[in-house]
Amino acid sequence: MATGSRTKAKTDGAEALKQVTYLASALKAPRITEAAGRLADHARDAGWTHEEYLAAVLDREVAARNASGAQLRIRAAGFGSRKTIEEFDWDAQPAVRQQIAALASGGFLTEARNVVLLGPPGTGKTHLATGLGIAAAHHGHRVLFATAVDWVTRLTDAHRAGRLPNELARLRRYGLIIVDEVGYLPFEQDAANLFFQLVSSRYEHASLILTSNLPFSGWGGVFGDQAVAAAMIDRVVHHADVLTLKGASYRLRNRGIDTLPSIRTQDTAD
Ligand code: ADP
Ligand code: MG
Repeated sequence: MATGSRTKAKTDGAEALKQVTYLASALKAPRITEAAGRLADHARDAGWTHEEYLAAVLDREVAARNASGAQLRIRAAGFGSRKTIEEFDWDAQPAVRQQIAALASGGFLTEARNVVLLGPPGTGKTHLATGLGIAAAHHGHRVLFATAVDWVTRLTDAHRAGRLPNELARLRRYGLIIVDEVGYLPFEQDAANLFFQLVSSRYEHASLILTSNLPFSGWGGVFGDQAVAAAMIDRVVHHADVLTLKGASYRLRNRGIDTLPSIRTQDTAD
């Protein structure tokens, strides 16, 4: 290209970019301005078609929106900590690695399937539930995390205010609800019924992740009633992956105290 026409192209380009700045702000997509400018010279030099250039610019905007959307969903989820799947040490729980990797791809959410994580304290149930929740947020799902006790408090408040049906309908708009520490404290009968309603209202509509230190056989004691517990477990596990974590507490590893009563020692290299 002759120097003259190249200069003209630059001037026209600068005019066009001004217009892009205006249009991008009208679209509330200010990153388009930045990407349009940054990619323009590169596109000319690399001989991109107009379509390729447009796609590259829009791609930057969409990627940035998805990332900031995920951050908003993660912040709104109420996680106790932000532990990710990537931070999990599989040497401690090799048996569940593949299953968790499959779940982290998010397919269970579109099928409204559930996940139940069982196992003794410190084996990574909360960590994995949180990690799956963060992955779900990245896949575009709204997520809420709380302990079973906190869920019951929330549902009890809604029930007392006469807005339980509204609250359950509102919660159904969340693709994933995580109930941590089922069985940590037993429920009163009213609480058990409210919890049952939460489970029923999501059945085949939206996913739940439950974690518990107790095997299912111990849930009757938690819900104060074998029949309520059985009906609930039936709905939860009808479409669910149930993962059982094993071994000693990860918190106590390397402390020389992995021989606490009731904690079976595990063969590890450390
Ligand atoms: P649980 O909910 O089963 O009682 P947590 O998920 O709270 O256990 O785990 C206890 C602590 O140990 C957390 O800080 C967690 O991040 C960590 N942890 C547990 N298992 C692992 C693991 N396999 N890899 C990395 N960190 C782990
Ligand atoms: Mg926990």
